Amino acid sequence: MMDRTEKIETKIIHTGRDPESFGGSVNPPVYHFSTVLYKSVDELVSRYDNITPDSRVMTYGTKGSPTSFSLEDAVAELEGGFRSISFPSGLAAVAGALFAFLKSGDHLLMTDSVYYPTREFCASVLKRFGVETTYYPPCIGSEIEELIQENTTVIYTESPGSHTFEVQDIPALSAAAHRHQAKLIMDNTWASPIFFNPFVHGADVSIQAATKYINGHSDIMLGMVTTTREDWEQLRNCTWHLGQCCGPDDLYMAQRGLRTLSVRMKQHQSNGIQVAEWLKKRPEVRRVLHPALPDDPGHELWKRDFKGASGLFGIELEPTNPSNVEAMLNRLELFGMGFSWGGYESLIVPSDVEKDRLPESWTFKGPLLRLHIGLEDPEDLILDLEQGFQELRTDAPKSSKS
Ligand SMILES: *Cc1c(COP(=O)(O)O)cnc(C)c1O
Repeated sequence: MMDRTEKIETKIIHTGRDPESFGGSVNPPVYHFSTVLYKSVDELVSRYDNITPDSRVMTYGTKGSPTSFSLEDAVAELEGGFRSISFPSGLAAVAGALFAFLKSGDHLLMTDSVYYPTREFCASVLKRFGVETTYYPPCIGSEIEELIQENTTVIYTESPGSHTFEVQDIPALSAAAHRHQAKLIMDNTWASPIFFNPFVHGADVSIQAATKYINGHSDIMLGMVTTTREDWEQLRNCTWHLGQCCGPDDLYMAQRGLRTLSVRMKQHQSNGIQVAEWLKKRPEVRRVLHPALPDDPGHELWKRDFKGASGLFGIELEPTNPSNVEAMLNRLELFGMGFSWGGYESLIVPSDVEKDRLPESWTFKGPLLRLHIGLEDPEDLILDLEQGFQELRTDAPKSSKS
């Protein structure tokens, strides 16, 4: 275990690595295996019997190897939890965390600003298994206590919110949850462990879509769930019962990406703020949804609890013809159009959140865009956006670029 007083930039380099055990190799080996062979019946039986919360033994392909332990130990330490387990996608991690801590007859309090596929999981699978979900406005804070029922066992939060970027009061949600013996599960993908420490702020379980910043190169799918010591066995056992496990090459790629996470996040942050500040001054932009901007409604909470901002934020455009927005997006050359984010490249997508949100938590009806600011030079990104904005002028001749 690393000395916990070290700075996160140092920890991220050394955590989860054990060169001495692998012939001095700086990076962990990639174990391709399903079967583990035992020398005797005695060893076969005892290896299984010796699985403890802390054990790091190989027993079968679904139950971990030095390749997965390396990534999991590193993420657990950076998130500030006890242990992590990996899932084949971020959504699998979300579903795995909810499955582990909910049962039939339970009530779940879910943020209204949640990642859309999480909402779909609640409306389909959890509903079928008899779990009732109530959505709460993301800025509810300690008033969430009024929504807690006798059978509420989980409060689920994601901060800032998906597409709309509301910052939530995690310590207040945690205090309310714990007064009622409920767990607080947090999706911490936006900030990554570099910019938010979920366990210091009272979460019991933290989720990372490692597909995004942890891997950082848009080339694998992976999810991680981290818990406190108290909640670890429940999560690990449920994950094993579900048969969730990941391919060794993907696990290796994620731990490789992780080593540069802190430098990448700092660059995403500064590039993102530079582009956001430019956008704020543009007449085409009604509002920039970025918690690091001082007049953002979530700024004070963000400043209190977060250590930085990632490269993902939103903009509301001034009312305009939908075909102009389409032309603007089509005209961009450096910004790719596509889902996911957290890689080295800039992305932009139109957001469509109105149909699902509580009327009290989201009212803007105009065009909403989500930007992921990558590691390009921000001046070049600004020039690209400036070109795109020409299409928003109703008198602009339509570009012929496809
Ligand atoms: C992308 C994302 C997920 C899901 O991750 P996948 O690996 O794409 O399944 C979960 N939560 C948040 C906040 C995300 O942005």
